[in-house]
Amino acid sequence: MKVINLMEQIVEDVLVEHWNNLRLPCDCEICKNDVLALALNALPTRYVSNDKGRMIVQARMMNEQYQADVLRELSRAACVVAVKPSHTSENS
Ligand SMILES: [Zn+2]
Repeated sequence: MKVINLMEQIVEDVLVEHWNNLRLPCDCEICKNDVLALALNALPTRYVSNDKGRMIVQARMMNEQYQADVLRELSRAACVVAVKPSHTSENS
């Protein structure tokens, strides 16, 4: 058993759900991971060590304000990656 950062899962879920709304010019795995990493760096970590802690944190994160915070950071990260993707744009 190790601790996990529940925020990783939350942000990833929200990213998958809202990816089309973020309107990135590229939707490769590299860009998705870059958006994910940038957003995670801007958001607080939420480590849990067991299922009880996980349920408490998850319940707290279901509220709309939290989702809005995550989405805001994802949008911000998407803008950064859209302007300056970390890979070369060989398709364009
Ligand atoms: Zn890309």
